[in-house]
Amino acid sequence: MTMHQIELSEVGPRDGLQSIGPFVPTDTKIDLVRAAYEAGLRRMEVGSFVSPRAVPQMADTGEVLKAAKQFEGLECTVLVPNRRGFDLAMNAGADRLGLFMSVTESHNKANLNRTREESFEELSAIVRGAPKGTKFRFNLSCVFHCPFEGVVPDADAFDWIERVTALDPYMEIALADTTGNAAPDQVKRVFDYVHRSWGLRFAFHGHDTYGMGVANVAAAFEAGVRIFDAASGGIGGCPFAPGATGNVAMEDVVWLFARMGVETGTDWPKLLAAADLAAAVPGATPGGAMRRVPAARHAAA
Ligand code: ZN
Repeated sequence: MTMHQIELSEVGPRDGLQSIGPFVPTDTKIDLVRAAYEAGLRRMEVGSFVSPRAVPQMADTGEVLKAAKQFEGLECTVLVPNRRGFDLAMNAGADRLGLFMSVTESHNKANLNRTREESFEELSAIVRGAPKGTKFRFNLSCVFHCPFEGVVPDADAFDWIERVTALDPYMEIALADTTGNAAPDQVKRVFDYVHRSWGLRFAFHGHDTYGMGVANVAAAFEAGVRIFDAASGGIGGCPFAPGATGNVAMEDVVWLFARMGVETGTDWPKLLAAADLAAAVPGATPGGAMRRVPAARHAAA
């Protein structure tokens, strides 16, 4: 057991694909899941039980989840925005339920069409009413920066984080840089504070819109975070965060940790193959640096 071990969650099949216009065939989604699994990733956000009217790209989440559950040892997370999504996900046998709301009112309204209080009330009821042992991941969007309100004051973020921590002493909580415009010193400061206040239970979900994704991952790690979201090929975006582009690229994050001597349990050549596959999905907006670095390519040969 190494001293520094981290958990990486592949979010490409959900965050990476959800804002793509043309419908990505179910088989392609399953291929992405398989490629990431073969690269050694054992945690994945495979889809979202949202209204197919709101997010048509996620209409086949049930099928993708069914296929993903066949991969031994893979923990499958699905996002659920409300009670209906929760019921669907439980019936479909999801391993972990991803709840989500925003720290800022305007993003919550744009994304979920309701106030933060309304979201929090419904999500709280889901957490409290869930069968014992149900695994959650509570995602807080726009913790650092909001596309509508700009930089989020630390105190506003802490208020909502505190309310979420109070729901369950062990629930995993992800702080998301939805726009990719968090600053590394801000990321470090916020995670330092939340760890001091509520323990090591936080994950970091970053985007790379401004090229700061990897720096922010490093800052979060420095502050003690050991669970990170990333998407192979850096695909992604948010339909409700104008201008936001891809998730921080999984291969960039893995390269960072390899250089830092941190164990990720992944296979580099297979990880690049997964990245290439994701980047080639028609309509995807790929990002990340490592796919374009010849020396990193050679390391895979
Ligand atoms: Zn995201």
